[in-house]
Amino acid sequence: MTHISQEFRFCKKEKVRFLESLALREYDFIEHAFCTRWGGVSQGPFSNFNFSIQVGDKEGNIEQNREILSTAFHIPLGGFLTVEQVHGDKIAIINGDVPDSHCYPGYDGIISNRPGLALAVKTADCLPIFLVDTKKRVIGAVHAGWRGTALGIAARAVDVFVKKFFSSPSDILAVLGPSIGPCCYEVDEKVFNPMTEGRGSNDFFKGTDQKGKWILDLKMANNCQLEDAGLLPDNIVSAKICTSCNVEKFFSHRGEEGNTGRQINFLMIK
Ligand SMILES: [Zn+2]
Repeated sequence: MTHISQEFRFCKKEKVRFLESLALREYDFIEHAFCTRWGGVSQGPFSNFNFSIQVGDKEGNIEQNREILSTAFHIPLGGFLTVEQVHGDKIAIINGDVPDSHCYPGYDGIISNRPGLALAVKTADCLPIFLVDTKKRVIGAVHAGWRGTALGIAARAVDVFVKKFFSSPSDILAVLGPSIGPCCYEVDEKVFNPMTEGRGSNDFFKGTDQKGKWILDLKMANNCQLEDAGLLPDNIVSAKICTSCNVEKFFSHRGEEGNTGRQINFLMIK
């Protein structure tokens, strides 16, 4: 890889407003978008491009939102593959065959080398991570909240690239999308303990004036994990956007006290 752009920009396709990474745009075999909350038909706290039924939105609204996304990006509805997202560390591997189900239960990540399959994760503060082996043309989408991060899901994903697709970590580009930033992410022992147990360095936590409270930098934690897994620091790109500071653009679980929707983030080999 040559020069890797650190830039992101907001774009619009038909009704859909999304953020894109210029580093990923360099690879013309990739289609991707970190969608914002705008472009859909959902109402109230889910206003308006919500993709999660679990939050209490009407199924019909989500179906319409899916159709809007599909039309805007010219990807058939059946071309999107999601995972259940249980805050675990299991990664589904799609190596050739078309999966029967378009939502994998029990998983938080997907890795595939199959063209025409859009790998999607839904977020509202959690971190969406896109991984691309730019030489072997293998892609991955990972959902990393604090639990998945504590379990090491980003490093596990790199391990799948290496073991199942024979990737070299130095060929992998990682793009970290919008998530809650350290500006808004105060946590307690419930998060601090499992994330630091048995680990030497934990620079991604900062102490506060209050006992038992820390500030967590979720992006930095995943960045460290990816570097430890062998990715080159220059090949890790991070959107410096906090979802909680930007509830006018993104759904934020914390910024909206749990009463909100989920935006969709996807990448696909064309
Ligand atoms: Zn913030």
